[in-house]
Amino acid sequence: MAKPTLQPSRGLMLWRGLTRRCPRCGGGKLFKGWFRMVPDCPHCALHFEREPGYWVGAVAINTMVIGMLFAIVLVAVSAATIPDIPWVSLLMAEIPLMAIGPAVFYPFSKTLWVAIDRAFLAHL
Ligand SMILES: [Zn+2]
Repeated sequence: MAKPTLQPSRGLMLWRGLTRRCPRCGGGKLFKGWFRMVPDCPHCALHFEREPGYWVGAVAINTMVIGMLFAIVLVAVSAATIPDIPWVSLLMAEIPLMAIGPAVFYPFSKTLWVAIDRAFLAHL
């Protein structure tokens, strides 16, 4: 468990966060199951939750990403089918997206938040 001495680039940290890996070392296996994140990286011992309330950033990212996905589907389907927008079919697609999407994106939002925090905010 040697600590890496070099700080990875911001782009690399964000990529690692998007792929559910540790932004500092790139190590995986940060989750037990889909929802439970380990408190420290098993590879470089980075402690993820820096302070109480830390994960509010991950909740914000999750909300923004799923909200943008909702808007993109809404605008794309509306633009493609106007003036006969299939509202029922659109709702049949959007409701499951809004119900299941946050759970599917949950682990990604956590590692992405850690990456954003490490890349842009950790020095503050
Ligand atoms: Zn690590």
